Amino acid sequence: MSALMELAYLLAAVFFIVGLKWLSSPATARNGNALASVGMLIAIVVTLFEQRIVSFSGILIGIIIGASVGAILARTIKMTAMPQMVAILNGFGGGASVLVASAEFLRVSGQGGAPVDVSFSVQFSILVGAVTFSGSLVAFGKLQELVAGQAVTYPLQKPLNALLLLAILLTAAYLVVGGPEGALSGVFAGLFGNSIVMPLITLVVLSLILGVLTVLPIGGADMPVVISLLNSYSGIAAASTGFVISNNGLIISGALVGASGIILTMIMCKAMNRSLANVLFGAFSAGGGESAAAEGGPVGAGGSVRQVSAEDAAIMLAYAKTAVVVPGYGLAVSQAQHTVRELATLLEERGVDVKYAIHPVAGRMPGHMNVLLAEADVPYEQLWEMERINPELERTDVALVIGANDVVNPAARHTESSPIYGMPILDVDRAQQVIVLKRSMNPGFAGIDNELFYNQNTSMLFGDAKASLTKLIAEVKEA
Ligand code: NAP
Repeated sequence: MSALMELAYLLAAVFFIVGLKWLSSPATARNGNALASVGMLIAIVVTLFEQRIVSFSGILIGIIIGASVGAILARTIKMTAMPQMVAILNGFGGGASVLVASAEFLRVSGQGGAPVDVSFSVQFSILVGAVTFSGSLVAFGKLQELVAGQAVTYPLQKPLNALLLLAILLTAAYLVVGGPEGALSGVFAGLFGNSIVMPLITLVVLSLILGVLTVLPIGGADMPVVISLLNSYSGIAAASTGFVISNNGLIISGALVGASGIILTMIMCKAMNRSLANVLFGAFSAGGGESAAAEGGPVGAGGSVRQVSAEDAAIMLAYAKTAVVVPGYGLAVSQAQHTVRELATLLEERGVDVKYAIHPVAGRMPGHMNVLLAEADVPYEQLWEMERINPELERTDVALVIGANDVVNPAARHTESSPIYGMPILDVDRAQQVIVLKRSMNPGFAGIDNELFYNQNTSMLFGDAKASLTKLIAEVKEA
């Protein structure tokens, strides 16, 4: 590979790293995305100049099909379906690593065998890539409700998985040390004959099964964390494949995806006050809370709540000095981001100081609320992170909770038996008045009742968030 190509890969890597850095703030995220895309374009163009590329027509057809499917999906996918979209994209990344690594292994084997280091990278790519592929498909199926969302558990689950992993490691080791001619040929006692293809297929199939069996026991509710972890795996598989085909661009970008995926996974676990082990093996919150849902209506498990009319809620807001909007998953469901912006603008015109409180795991994916509000062009300086807004809430006249539930549940602070105990929350109960917009007394993601709704200073405005906000806008205009 020429020095120029190496330099171009280095430039692409710098663009990826700076792009990632910029992605960490809503103010610079768009530019970060664009910069990283340019980096990827450079990496692709440079790769196409490599001698080993056999058929440009094949690549062109692939680009046309891939770009068309990508463009259609990007335009049509609903914001609430983004986690499953990411899941399927991760899965394909893992699948691609399996195919590239296997093809390279077969090619090198045909030329007298692969060196141990290359063979090791191949088997590692196949294992991680196949687990990512099938695991991501199960995650997609759970989120799309094609597969039961519950945590599927069965007897001897962990020992069986351990046994499967052992079989995979043995098969991989057999291939690494030379297959039928290698040191472990006696152990397998002619199981695979003289073939190198059979153990390779066995490795792929067993790894695919492992991916399915690892994700099945995890409840649909924990899928966003699993998807972030699988995203990290797909990066690790890609980096390993980069070693197989000696491509520095792939090694660097794979390593970045692997590292950022694992960091994101840890951030999500911390924000939910759960350990990664608890997410992976804890079989938590089976179906996203719906099964535990109470009958819709103003009476919840904790007694009756105070309902408010849109007119009264609008008066509270219109005459407030400070208001904090607390968006949650329900805002995304009702797609009310533009409507809430309209209400906020109206209030600001009346002299109300409006801020938005952003909880790190509000919604169903990291940054969900930031993305949603950015869509409605809410100014970034109005978005306040949890740590920054919490001390402000005591001095806030009205907290307007829109489709948020778990992230404002005070039980997280003091009820040790609660599944969300210890999770940092937005302290909206400390505001002077709280108005909650939701459709019923149904619980959120964690499937638990929320004591905030029964507080003296809380008023419930029942209905779809968008419809309620539209009514509030009309009433504020009248006030
Ligand atoms: P939440 O606790 O899931 O509650 C959402 C609420 O929105 C529900 O109580 C629902 O009540 C209401 N809602 C749904 N559709 C609505 C509509 N059309 N109009 C008005 N309200 C509507 O949401 P959250 O407070 O945002 O908390 C997020 C939860 O997800 C946390 O438990 C978090 O740990 C978990 N989680 C988040 C992530 C992430 O990355 N963000 C990842 C994994 C898990 P009704 O049905 O009564 O309307």
